[in-house]
Amino acid sequence: MKISDFSKWSNRATEWGQKYLDGLRTRPVRAQLAPGDIAALLPEKAPEQPEDMETIFADFTRIVPDGMTHWQHPRFFAYFPANAAPASMVAEQLANTMAAQCMLWQTSPAATEIEARMIDWLRDALGLAGHFSGVIQDSATSATLSAILTMRERALDWRGNTKGLGGQTRLRIYASNQTHSSIDKAVRIAGIGQENLVKVATDANFAMRPAALEAAITADLAAGYRPAGVVICVGGTSIGASDNVGDIVKIARAHDLMSHVDAAWAGSAMICPEFRPLWAGVDGADSVVFNPHKWLGAQFDCSVQFLADPTAQIRTLGLRPDYLKTSGQEEITNFNEWTIPLGRRFRALKLWFLLRAYGLEGLRQRIRNHVAWAQELAEKIAALPHITVTSAPRLALFTFQYAPPGQDANRATAALLDEINDAGHIYLTQTTHAGQFVIRVSVGQFDCTREDVMAVHDELCRRTAPGQKGQKRRH
Ligand SMILES: *Cc1c(COP(=O)(O)O)cnc(C)c1O
Repeated sequence: MKISDFSKWSNRATEWGQKYLDGLRTRPVRAQLAPGDIAALLPEKAPEQPEDMETIFADFTRIVPDGMTHWQHPRFFAYFPANAAPASMVAEQLANTMAAQCMLWQTSPAATEIEARMIDWLRDALGLAGHFSGVIQDSATSATLSAILTMRERALDWRGNTKGLGGQTRLRIYASNQTHSSIDKAVRIAGIGQENLVKVATDANFAMRPAALEAAITADLAAGYRPAGVVICVGGTSIGASDNVGDIVKIARAHDLMSHVDAAWAGSAMICPEFRPLWAGVDGADSVVFNPHKWLGAQFDCSVQFLADPTAQIRTLGLRPDYLKTSGQEEITNFNEWTIPLGRRFRALKLWFLLRAYGLEGLRQRIRNHVAWAQELAEKIAALPHITVTSAPRLALFTFQYAPPGQDANRATAALLDEINDAGHIYLTQTTHAGQFVIRVSVGQFDCTREDVMAVHDELCRRTAPGQKGQKRRH
């Protein structure tokens, strides 16, 4: 394919995309095929000779769409949303075409300067204090790893980077058992070790108990460990649990520990002032991550890490070899020095398009609707026979269990989940909460309507009403 054919194929892709998006409601939400089905349709070897774009495109439409789970489907209630507002899709197309490496200011000044401005816009939109700056990362996992590496280096007075970890004091990181597995992954990669991630006890609301944190730190100091940092959970992945940020930050500061707030999902809701009590005290944290690629509407991937002072993270991750220097511009922001990879995509562009095309008020309205509809749905579901809401809505996430008489509740709930997802009208996923297998309902797809959300109730009515068991409805 030649550059002169670019508009032809881009237009074909766009036309296909418009039809795809318009037709989402007619597709099953979760891919309805078995492992290996798609692989069986692909040749075993790459072609030696060029193939025709017409053939390639035809194979795409034949093989790929039916092999996808449709994350932009308005009846997707699984995991957390990965919203891609149409305006952010357009921005991605433009960024793809310029295909720039935005690692240094010099390698794309617009990317760096728009990124810095988008961080400021979002900081203010979320109601964070004016001292925060920040950077766009690919994922919350990377942002959390960056924060934990910084905790490590600060606690070791930057000797880990130079001398390695052998012979250093053993470090400790603290988090509740509601935090995401990306925290476990980060302590492993950072060489701190899983055993040195202390899972602090939670209270009846699944928030970290401040007294338990204080006791754990005191015990570790007495045992000769070096406490390095605390990861604070706001909107945990399982049931949406949140720590009391202000209380935990205060303890971290009293012991000179760094604090990192993981609000990957819930952070987007903070554009609505009424939800901000959920992270009251956040302005005292050293680092805060949230994913505009989840609830807010920025096409994946786009994760924002706010930093109270970026100096320690830059000192941990930033290298400036001669070949990356910009002559006479030593003070310029080079965002690669804030993150792990050197190369960087132009992710700020989709935030710029998103925030302008919908406005903060348009985005707030969506999130408010999702929260209100989740609440309404939970109430309706709670009234169904044999269904118990096992965790009340936190923002737009709740869980429930199905316990028909004479059946094991965990098994009946798992069977119900399979039946629902095989039918494909809606898509839900599970978690284990308080030792029980429960179904999560996560409302937040960018274009879902109240009717889409209430379809969860209708689906449950159909599948749990007496006499309906085992009657699978397929597309
Ligand atoms: C989704 C999520 C993550 C992981 O996000 P990635 O961007 O996929 O790495 C981490 N923490 C929480 C609370 C999440 O909801």
